[in-house]
Amino acid sequence: MNKNIIKLKNVSKFYYNKGIIATGFTRINLEFKIGEFVAITGESGSGKSTLLNVISGLDTYEEGEMYINGKETSHYNEKDFENYRRQYIGNIFQNFNLVNSYTVYQNIELVLLLNGNSKKEIKDKVLQLIKDVDLYKFRNTLVSKLSGGQKQRVAIARALAKDTPIIIADEPTGNLDSTSAKEIIKLLSIISKDKLVIIVTHNYEQVEKYVTRKIKMHDGKILEDKTILPTKENLKQKIPNCSNINLTSKLRLGIRNTFNIIPKFLLILAVYLFITVALTSEYSAFKKQEFIAETSGYNYLFQNLEDNRIIIKKQDNTPFNTNDYKNISTINNIDTIVENDLLLDKTVNLVNDNFWIYATVNNINNLEGNIDKGRMPTNDEEVIIVGNIDDYYIGYMADELLNKELSLQDIYTGEINNDIKLKVVGIQYSDTIDYYSNNQIYVNNTIIEKLTYQINQQYSHINILFQDKYYNSNYYNNFFKISPHSKINKGEAYISNDLNYLCPNNNCLNQKINIELENIYYKDNLNLTVSKTYNKQNLKTLLNIEDYESNNGVIFINPDDYNSLFNKSTYQSSIFVKDVKLIDETVNLLNEKGYNTLKIKDTLIQDGTTQLIKIMGTVVTIALVIVLFFISYFVIRVILKSRNIYFATIRMLGATKKISKQLLIIELLTVSNIAYFSFIIIIYLNYLNIFNIEFINTIINYLTLKDYLILYSILIIMSCLISTKFSKKLFKESTMKTIKEEV
Ligand code: ADP
Ligand code: MG
Repeated sequence: MNKNIIKLKNVSKFYYNKGIIATGFTRINLEFKIGEFVAITGESGSGKSTLLNVISGLDTYEEGEMYINGKETSHYNEKDFENYRRQYIGNIFQNFNLVNSYTVYQNIELVLLLNGNSKKEIKDKVLQLIKDVDLYKFRNTLVSKLSGGQKQRVAIARALAKDTPIIIADEPTGNLDSTSAKEIIKLLSIISKDKLVIIVTHNYEQVEKYVTRKIKMHDGKILEDKTILPTKENLKQKIPNCSNINLTSKLRLGIRNTFNIIPKFLLILAVYLFITVALTSEYSAFKKQEFIAETSGYNYLFQNLEDNRIIIKKQDNTPFNTNDYKNISTINNIDTIVENDLLLDKTVNLVNDNFWIYATVNNINNLEGNIDKGRMPTNDEEVIIVGNIDDYYIGYMADELLNKELSLQDIYTGEINNDIKLKVVGIQYSDTIDYYSNNQIYVNNTIIEKLTYQINQQYSHINILFQDKYYNSNYYNNFFKISPHSKINKGEAYISNDLNYLCPNNNCLNQKINIELENIYYKDNLNLTVSKTYNKQNLKTLLNIEDYESNNGVIFINPDDYNSLFNKSTYQSSIFVKDVKLIDETVNLLNEKGYNTLKIKDTLIQDGTTQLIKIMGTVVTIALVIVLFFISYFVIRVILKSRNIYFATIRMLGATKKISKQLLIIELLTVSNIAYFSFIIIIYLNYLNIFNIEFINTIINYLTLKDYLILYSILIIMSCLISTKFSKKLFKESTMKTIKEEV
């Protein structure tokens, strides 16, 4: 006697639907053996399909016990039933449940790939199966192009490919003409020689010739169970070894699914392109905003706030020498090195009776581009000015300005620099300098040195010794302030009559004074003799200075003496990097080489609004990512709805939840990668100036490699989340329900 492969003992199936209980079938007792060809008949609604679904493990049961090879199944979970289906059950449906967008070959191959076979080793087997069902001619035809009979033969071949001991066919001839139906039944009867075949049919005459057993159902119960023919004895039950689908097959199927329905592919691609473009442009807009917020602070120490500036000094506090600059210039990222860095932060007013121009000072060697008006300088006092054409003095009054003598006025003290007179001989108009920002004057090295010494004086702590007492010299106060003047001999000093009270007998003439100086870099001192004292009457004749009031109290000394105090080589320089994005990398390189660094960006004081902009930007970006996620999820879900039947089909063939999800992930990742990298190519073409799209330029300007990686990761994570969410939804419903709904 053959053993029972399936046994149902008092099994009932109920449907719970919105509080209403419907009966699928009640208290069914049945046993099935290998070698049987069972026909189940009965009127519509009598529970035939429900019974087959329970036996197939596609649906659960509520009461009783189903045994598989003697083993109870009432405790089976979803995974156990998945395994059971894979090893035991081949399904054939009235509506075929094939993958319409696959060829005949691919449909049969699919089940073998899902069972862990590799593509190569199954080729002969697939072709043999196709020959067995007489479809060799159609092996590469899309299933959607076949007739019903042909489709059902593909379904049979597919069921046979699984090589399971049980084949279950629910009205396999229901949609077929009688000739095709006959062929199908014949095929099934051949199969049943060494398998258990259970078939539901409305048309018993059609199967009568072949069946070994007839079961009639009525109202969820067995009305009749009759053996027609004896079954062969001692048939061996073969249960196939199934492993899981391998990675190559997964990738192959995932990619096949991506492209096999072109309109679906294009729709998903469009969604992903939209996500990519929206995300990237919003992210770069945010980066731009953040960048502007970071660089739009203010500062009491520095005037030149260019974002690519790094201030450096040596870690051992010694002055820079030519080797240092050579060493630094080996760093590729560096655009320019400004040795006389103090000058960058020197803002002056260029003034005379008619003009008042606010400007920062630059070295003429750094001037780039051509002059729009006038000519290049030929001597020390001639300078070039760079500014905005809309500026009143530089634009409108340009012709008046050229070649007029101007004085330098300190912006803090209002003091006129007696040592330096300048003439603007050339003007360059620059778009990058806006109306409100500084103009720049370009002067030669002599002027730069003079100005540098003055800055050194500003930054130094200076005391002047008269007799036994020190008097503090403050740059911002005329009294005891030191100023160079070419009319004075070396070693001498001119002081105001008003300082005579510091000396014995109220007379400082021929007295010694000593200047002591200390700053963060060095100490020095200088001995001088007071050779003249000035007053309101003689200042003009002595020193050619008209304005007594604003100069009274100043100690005038010889320019060489002055330079010896303040010209102590360079202790601090500035570097401008080629690209702000490279600033951190450059700072690291400089630190490695032994220089202390200060990014100008880090010296900025930012008010609350810039912080607010940053926070708002972050919030908006995160909100956008979330909104995009849901938009794309719902759109992709609608598009993928057509795929429900595919996933139900592969599930029915034994694919697990995990595998379905992975196939979907591969599919979405393929599309998202195509979308992302197409956009990257567009960005690159823009970068090469092959075309020029404004918002892409923003992307190019503000995104770094790190940002591209972040965006890529967001896209990948979104794809995985969408796949997970979609497959969860897919698996919430039973396979049967999905199949029924889709048909
Ligand atoms: P048959 O295949 O014999 O036509 P079915 O097995 O499809 O019959 O249906 C048996 C009974 O179970 C019917 O009364 C039907 O209304 C009910 N039924 C089937 N599927 C569902 C379902 N998903 N929800 C509720 N009731 C169902
Ligand atoms: Mg039915």
